[in-house]
Amino acid sequence: MELFWHRRDPRTVDNAGLAAAARSGTVVPVFVYDADLLGTLGDRQRVFYLRAVKRLEARYRELGSDLVVRSGAPDEALVDLAEEYDAETVFYNEHYRAARRNRQRRVDAALSDDGVGTDRRTDLVLVDPGRLERSYPNHSQFHNDWEAVPKRGPYEEPPADALASVGDGKTVPEPDADIDLPAAGYRAARDRFDGFLDRGITSYNDTRDDLARAVEAPTRAVSRMSPYLATGAIGIRELWSDAGEVYDAVSGGERRNVDKYRYELSWREQQYHLLYYNPDLAVSNYKEFPNEIAWREADEDFEAWKRGETGYPLVDAGMRQLNEEGYIHNRPRQVVASFLTKHLLVDWRKGARYFTEQLIDHDYASNHGGWQWTASTGTDSVDVRIFDPVSQASKYDDGAAFIREYVPELREAPTERIIEWPTLSDGEREAVAPEYPHPIVDRNEGYERAQRVFEEALGKR
Ligand SMILES: Cc1cc2nc3c(=O)[nH]c(=O)nc-3n(C[C@H](O)[C@H](O)[C@H](O)COP(=O)(O)OP(=O)(O)OC[C@H]3O[C@@H](n4cnc5c(N)ncnc54)[C@H](O)[C@@H]3O)c2cc1C
Repeated sequence: MELFWHRRDPRTVDNAGLAAAARSGTVVPVFVYDADLLGTLGDRQRVFYLRAVKRLEARYRELGSDLVVRSGAPDEALVDLAEEYDAETVFYNEHYRAARRNRQRRVDAALSDDGVGTDRRTDLVLVDPGRLERSYPNHSQFHNDWEAVPKRGPYEEPPADALASVGDGKTVPEPDADIDLPAAGYRAARDRFDGFLDRGITSYNDTRDDLARAVEAPTRAVSRMSPYLATGAIGIRELWSDAGEVYDAVSGGERRNVDKYRYELSWREQQYHLLYYNPDLAVSNYKEFPNEIAWREADEDFEAWKRGETGYPLVDAGMRQLNEEGYIHNRPRQVVASFLTKHLLVDWRKGARYFTEQLIDHDYASNHGGWQWTASTGTDSVDVRIFDPVSQASKYDDGAAFIREYVPELREAPTERIIEWPTLSDGEREAVAPEYPHPIVDRNEGYERAQRVFEEALGKR
């Protein structure tokens, strides 16, 4: 018998470790309900993930097997299970976050003391970070090396006769039914991606930043696959190879659009690469500054940002989308992160922590890498990047459809007044939308202060 320990991979299809275990012998699939680890996830993501584990359990039952569930610390639970099932090896998939790697080391050590082997596979990413250089000056150089590494296709679901016919009385606790979330699990992920392959991917590059389209047809403008990828409900090889099939089947402009989607997936890979070589990515600036960045202690501003009440319509729409849906489109995601770290000069770690609590698609590497990039403490080759929340709105939400969707106080206001809101006089604002806040920081002063503080930190002043 072999054990397969499910971690952030609640799926039977395209699961590298599970496929390896099935090639080696009869597999007992195992899930360890670890309350400490689950407690580190935001409520929404924890529920979304546990619902996917429930679907996984149902799938094993359809295949005549079962997901064997234990609770507690994985090293202890897995030693007991290896003994119970007389397992030779415990298979699992590699993680890149330091705390998870420590956990797997404890598992390896405890099992080895008991004479049981472990076998770890690359599953979360297409290219193992260890195969690439330690660091790259920019994304395109990372992309060049990453692209040159051959990528394998998805792993098949193991045949039913490779799975042990176990019946386990235990099950994962029913996750909180009150939280409203997208449908969970592999099947739901597959359906969403099929829809995107049919109707979104061949126009992806042209529409991905169009916020009106993101409101009208949210799963066509962009894939919205991130919650499924972040919880491991679907495998990355499956997405890569399906997108590749569409790429081969189309030509010209459509091909360019599909190519952009595949290119975007390389950002995710770069964030894992960054985390792999910088385990402190969530706590320390990636870039070295000769002087400290003079972050502001600005609790009131931070609270207004969290609530979506900054008086900057695109920022507020983005934050309210986050608070309502646990998801935020990439464009406003960058704008709200830039606004917090630049116009308000609040430390990026505070914003990242709030995102961790709220996002369904929270991914330790992408979230902290994304915050550092936007805060200009990360891998961006531009020294100080500051998104202007007004011109971002006029460029990407020119009809204010996205803003109106999430900021009802502005629904009746004329479009140009919404876009220019932070530049209007108090009197003009009162006349147009008296219930919506005035800007909590002056647009130009916020910009200039950020520029000055970052230049001082960089030793340029
Ligand atoms: C401050 C900040 C925080 C972020 N936090 C997260 C996070 O916690 N989890 C997360 O998955 N993404 C994060 N991102 C990246 C990006 O915003 C989301 O991946 C994207 O919005 C997800 O929506 P989608 O699946 O519809 O994207 P699509 O536009 O359909 O993109 C396709 C896929 O490409 C990948 N991708 C695209 N851009 C990036 C990027 N910059 N970094 C990593 N992967 C990328 C994702 O896997 C995404 O699903 C963050 C970005 C910023 C600026």
